[in-house]
Amino acid sequence: MNPTEVLQEVSQQVSVCEKCPLHFSRKQSVPGEGPDGAEIVLIGEGPGFYENEQGRPFVGNAGKFLDELLQKAGLKRGDVFITNVVKCRPPGNRDPQPDELLACSDYLDRQIAAIDPKVIITLGRFSMARYLPNAKVSEVHGQATWVRGRLIVPMYHPAAALHQPSLKSEVERDFSRLPALLKQAKKQFAQQQASLMKTSTAESPAAAPAQSDPQLSLFTAIPAESPASRPEKPAQSSGNEATQLSLF
Ligand code: URA
Ligand code: SF4
Repeated sequence: MNPTEVLQEVSQQVSVCEKCPLHFSRKQSVPGEGPDGAEIVLIGEGPGFYENEQGRPFVGNAGKFLDELLQKAGLKRGDVFITNVVKCRPPGNRDPQPDELLACSDYLDRQIAAIDPKVIITLGRFSMARYLPNAKVSEVHGQATWVRGRLIVPMYHPAAALHQPSLKSEVERDFSRLPALLKQAKKQFAQQQASLMKTSTAESPAAAPAQSDPQLSLFTAIPAESPASRPEKPAQSSGNEATQLSLF
């Protein structure tokens, strides 16, 4: 199956999914949306009131704010894939429960594997926990870390930031720094690819990023995981990457 087909299959499956109790109260499931060759994926928490009505992610107040944040980062909504850790609305916008997160995680895993993004921006603690299980958003927001070959950038959730003025300016600052971060990531990724080409005959293909390189100073790297070691690979290229923004 190519990435488009995987995403279509996931959308179809979540529309009829009964794997967790959230299906009882949903009006529409919200699989997520965006180009199947997106280089950046944003992962939120779960659909809210308007998302449940419309079947689309981030279309309420938090969504309007997210659009502004993307603009600050020089990105358009159409350039990125936006989804959530749970695809059905938790009643009253409560936190998703561990059993619901677990039941729904396979859909997100398949979406990420199909899209194969270079960068994942997590919005809030539930999506961050998939990649940085011990981190606190208040401590690591805006800092990029290579995890399993993808650049993970944890951000405050836009809805939380809307409710707390102090967080609003922080999240705005974090998004405005994204272009510089992505530029550096692109360089690092190219360096990694180049050094991999040189050492392609070596036993261990995924060399850890060279921490002494001043260009890498914006990043942390989780040892033994590098840009070149992404485990999930798309079955096939979607063939339409050329029309999308190209960071890498
Ligand atoms: N908040 C989220 O986390 N996701 C949405 O889709 C909308 C609001
Ligand atoms: Fe299925 Fe996920 Fe919806 Fe639960 S939240 S019913 S696992 S699609």
